[in-house]
Amino acid sequence: MTELLFLLLPIAAASGWFAARRSERAKVAAAPQIGHPSFFRGLNYLLDEQPDKAIDVFVKLAEVDQETVEVHLALGSLFRRRGEVDRAIRIHQNLVARDNLEPEQRGFALYELGQDYMRAGLFDRAERLFGELLELGLQRRRALEALAEIYQQEREWVRGLEVAEQLEALGVESVRTAMAHYRCELAEQAFEAGEIERAEAHLEAARSSDRRCVRASMLQGEILMRRGDYARALVLYRGIVRQDPSFMPEILPQFVTSLERGGQTDLRAELESLYLGRPNPMLLVALAERVREQQGDEAAVELLRTHLTQYADLAGLVRFLEWQGDQDAADAIDVTLVIVRHLAARLPAYQCQNCGFTARHIHWQCPSCKRWDTVRLLQPEPLGTAAWCAPAVAADKSPA
Ligand SMILES: [Zn+2]
Repeated sequence: MTELLFLLLPIAAASGWFAARRSERAKVAAAPQIGHPSFFRGLNYLLDEQPDKAIDVFVKLAEVDQETVEVHLALGSLFRRRGEVDRAIRIHQNLVARDNLEPEQRGFALYELGQDYMRAGLFDRAERLFGELLELGLQRRRALEALAEIYQQEREWVRGLEVAEQLEALGVESVRTAMAHYRCELAEQAFEAGEIERAEAHLEAARSSDRRCVRASMLQGEILMRRGDYARALVLYRGIVRQDPSFMPEILPQFVTSLERGGQTDLRAELESLYLGRPNPMLLVALAERVREQQGDEAAVELLRTHLTQYADLAGLVRFLEWQGDQDAADAIDVTLVIVRHLAARLPAYQCQNCGFTARHIHWQCPSCKRWDTVRLLQPEPLGTAAWCAPAVAADKSPA
């Protein structure tokens, strides 16, 4: 529904502008269709999420009157939405080719055509059109946003930054998160090329765009670790965990190493207090491994058992089965392990908090909705009893 309303925006804006325009001008006859009952019928179909019927209405309107820009704009967008990009492109190209368009109308048509090209994967053409819009001073914000999308897609981070800065100057504050990630991308490239100083400069810039940028802190931590500066890395990692404990699993191995080599604290005590603050599977496994080293299998299994009575946690269950060492039950445990490992490997570990997209690995930008910083680790579910797999107690209790 929201998507459909978005589709209506250019039409509504254009027709609103048109209506105002018409009332101020004497020669009204040029745009008769906007007040036509069919036009509103078409809009109603859109609002009712019946785009096919809306298309029928608008096609008929367009046949009757070749001139009305709004109808063609609506049709073009509908075709694109339905995946008929070629038809959308033809309609919008025809509009753009007209030499009697008002600047605002040209702005809408060019923007829509640019969207068609993007949808068709013709990014070069789309980029040119959006650039043209900027030169004309039309559809400024939307053209910049579309360009940002293109540069993200093509991983052209420097140009992405140029566009993002213009958006920021327009007062679009949300773009700062994306800017920080563009910088992080550049930092990663520099890091991989061995240009550490350049990488650090990008990271500093990233944090000045978004001072809560976890990704920049993580990269900085990596650089510090490589330099052997474990104490400073540890400060950084503790800062990340304080800011957002859900990132703990992401940095756990580095955190453990920096604690072992750079911290004075007891590793096990620190893991334990972190785990109690916010239980999560990876932390539990790390803690259990530490307990196992120091106190043996039995103590580690006991720790896991406590956790597993509360959470449906497959990673914990795998370790539990591996370490519990009951020789009599060995065969049953082997069978169980095969299945649990299989399930654990298939389960998504991350989910986008904006659109629900699930993944096995962290994504800084959601591949589905393209938002930055919305993908988070899934927490294991607290245990309840699913009806279909309730324990088969009833049979045991039946009289012999
Ligand atoms: Zn998403």
